[in-house]
Formats: sequence, C-alpha cells, structure tokens
Amino acid sequence: MLNYAETHFKFPVSRLYRKEPVILIDAPFQICPGLPCPTWLITRKANRFPVYINEVYGEWKNAKGQSISFKLPIEKQFDKSFHFEELDFEKPENCTGIWMLKIFIKYEINKKSKICERWNYPFLPPEPLIINFLKEPLPKPKGWLAGETHCHSSYTLDSVEFGAAPAVLQKTAKSVGLDFICITDHSYDLISEKKFQKMKNEIAGLDGVVAGEEISCGNSKNENVHLLAFGNENYVEGHGDGGRRWWNTDPDLPIQKAIEKSGVFCFAAHPKLQMLFAEKLLLKRGHWSYKDLTENKISGIEFWNGFRGKDFYEGRELWIKCLLAGHKLLPLGGNDAHGDLNSYTAVKQPLWSLKHNNEHIFGQVRTVIPDTGKIPFSELPENLYITDGPALWIEKGSLHARSTEDFGKFLSITIFRGEEGAEKIEQMKIDDSLSFDFEITLGNNLYTRAECETCMGKFAMTAAIYSPPVA
Ligand SMILES: [Zn+2]
Ligand SMILES: [Zn+2]
Repeated sequence: MLNYAETHFKFPVSRLYRKEPVILIDAPFQICPGLPCPTWLITRKANRFPVYINEVYGEWKNAKGQSISFKLPIEKQFDKSFHFEELDFEKPENCTGIWMLKIFIKYEINKKSKICERWNYPFLPPEPLIINFLKEPLPKPKGWLAGETHCHSSYTLDSVEFGAAPAVLQKTAKSVGLDFICITDHSYDLISEKKFQKMKNEIAGLDGVVAGEEISCGNSKNENVHLLAFGNENYVEGHGDGGRRWWNTDPDLPIQKAIEKSGVFCFAAHPKLQMLFAEKLLLKRGHWSYKDLTENKISGIEFWNGFRGKDFYEGRELWIKCLLAGHKLLPLGGNDAHGDLNSYTAVKQPLWSLKHNNEHIFGQVRTVIPDTGKIPFSELPENLYITDGPALWIEKGSLHARSTEDFGKFLSITIFRGEEGAEKIEQMKIDDSLSFDFEITLGNNLYTRAECETCMGKFAMTAAIYSPPVA
C-alpha cells in the first residue's frame, strides 16, 4: 500500500491529477560516520509530461544555528518515464547530529516557470528532509549483518505507487549502515516470470542485494495476505489484490502452495496491517491468523513493519502465542518502504488526498543476523534481533545490549521466559551505561527472549532462544 505517491491515476476523476511529471527530492534518513549522503532528484512520467529543470537550491540548518546554503544548476530536459538523478551539492562535513534540509526545484513546464519545495505533489505541504549524521557506527555485534527485509524497488510501478531503482536502494543502504537488503516487490507488480527474471538480472550485479518477492496468496478464509520470499529462483504468481483484476480478487495460490512454489524460506508480512475498509471489500485483503501461521511452513513473522503501532503489538501478541505453543517462528523487522528514503508519502484517500509521515522509511527498522558467509536467508538464521537503534542479542548464555549516543541510554532491558501458557517477565538492573552483559540461565523454561528500549524511544528485541530438550 505504501509508496512514493503517484498522481497520474486519473480514472474516473482525480483531484490529484496534474499535467506534470512527479518531481521530488529524496535522501537517506541517517548517515553513518564518514559515509556520503547521496541525494536524488526523482522524476516520474516525464515521458508524458517532459520538464526542463533549471536548478536546485536550498539550505541546510541544524539546532546549533549553523547553516549552509547551496545552488546547483541542472539546466536540462527530463523526458524519461522514471529517472533518478544524483545531485552533487554542498553537504555538512565533520558536523554530526540532525540537520534539516530545505530544498527547492526551479523548473519549466508548458512554457511556464515554476518553483516547488521538495516535491510538486498537489495538496501536500512541503516538508524539509531530516537527516541524522550519526556520531558513531551502528551498534552491532562483531560478525553480524544488518539488513532491510521488506522494501520495494522501481519494479513496483503501477498507477498508484512506485519504489526506488535497485541501485539507488543499494547506495542508500551503504550510507544508512545496512549490510544487505532484500527487495520484495509485489507479485502483482512483477506480473510474470519474464519481468521477475529481468529484476533478478538487474539485481544480480548489485553486491549485498537479494532479489525476492512479496507474494499475494490466500489465507484460510481465502482472503489475500502477503508472504515474503527471499532469493526465490522463479516467479510465484499472486494477482488477487493487485487491483488490476477487479472482476476476480480470489487469491491464485493458498499460502502453503505459494511457499512450496517459491522453494525458499518464507515469512508472513505485516500480519495485522491496519487497512481501509475499501481494501478489505474491493481487494479482498485479510490478516494472518494463528491457524495460517501454524498450519503452513512459515519461518517467521514480519510484525515490525516500519513503525510500532497497533499492528506491531497485535502481531507480536500473535507471535508470542505461536512461541508458547512451541512454533519456533523468527521475528522479522522491515519497513515496507516504496522509495521513501527520508520520509513516507502515500495516497491517503484514493484520487483525493496524499499523506506524509515517518512510518515506512527505508532501512529504519533492521533485522540483524550472524554472518555465516552465505547469502542472507539462503539458510534460516539461527539467531537474530530486530532494531531501530540499539543492539540486543543472546549468545552462549549471555544477554548483551549496546547503544550509542545517537540512540540514547537504556530505559529498560527485559527478559521474557516462555512458560506454561504465559511469559514470565524479568526486569534487568541497569544504570547510565550504554553497554550491558548479563549472564542468564537458559533451560528452565520453554524459551528465553529479550526486549529493550532507550530514552530516545529506540527499541530492539531478540528472537526466542529455545531451551535444548532435557536428555
Ligand atoms: Zn504488503
Ligand atoms: Zn510491501
């Protein structure tokens, strides 16, 4: 559902329709120390509405009152259907912390000269880019890899939403601090084996990028739910809720058939996603149930889908229910960003209004796994944690927690022990430190897992470590 918003969806009538290409500027939301801050000018549908861009100008500002002004001449015609132009202008160097970037685009279209700030979306007030230049590298155990497990590329390109080019995602990932990304475009956007292979070929040349698919398939009520597959060789069809086949919204394959066809480990995407009534009714979209998760060969659940809202807490509850029943499902954290490198723009009401928030930003929520030298998720990770800041992991009978000045001191570190029918909660004693190592006993209960939160609202949680069976 989530995307760079598209404004050329005209039928039957749209308040958002414009005789202009979409023009916008995007850049990563955070930059690791010493890494570049790539910034892109994006044009979409300039083949239908060619535009001449004169220049880009603006100003960086931070809370210390520092500022940097810049002006970058572009002076060229844009006429491609989809284009990312990397912009080279002055950026804050050796000055960490949060910077605000106000940026303007001067362009000519239909013989008129225009200026827009950040984007030319109708009825959506401009917002500056907010970029956090981190003081320290991301906290992470040695020999582990941080990844984005749910994002959309430019192969998600339909009338209402579009993502970023794979090479743009790869370059952004490096600066943000990601070691790998799994691109999971919709089965209903990939359409066919041919387009899927084209995407795979384009991605094959990109180091650290795994091509996958977000497959629409049928739950036990024959409603469409989304399934994440990483590294599948072949396309798995799933057109039910794509909105192109309105006369038939039935899922193509039930969950288990889709998993078998993919031939890889599969994860339930956003099991309790909040959706519009229209999506349920017109696209026959549904939720994942306990039955769907436990009666199919699911490897884990992506219940952290960009932000911690109602769907996160409901998804986590469902996950715990599965854990307590002995189903060893992995938790997965992704963002479901469609482009959206700095903030998230999307359609609020179809044909009527757009929205802007921080709910689905590329690379913000990360899944961190031990590096085994294999392609991520080509084997099932034996351990992992998910985070939007601190590191938290259980290894060899110890619980470790690490934060940095960028993500703040710990407010709480909590251990959850799976026992008969419920979890037992244990608060760990903490002080002002950014680093903790606790020896913990494993084995007196079904499983052990942990969560932590920092004073900046950053959060991490581990997978459940099951106790070895008593001999
Ligand atoms: Zn989805
Ligand atoms: Zn998605």
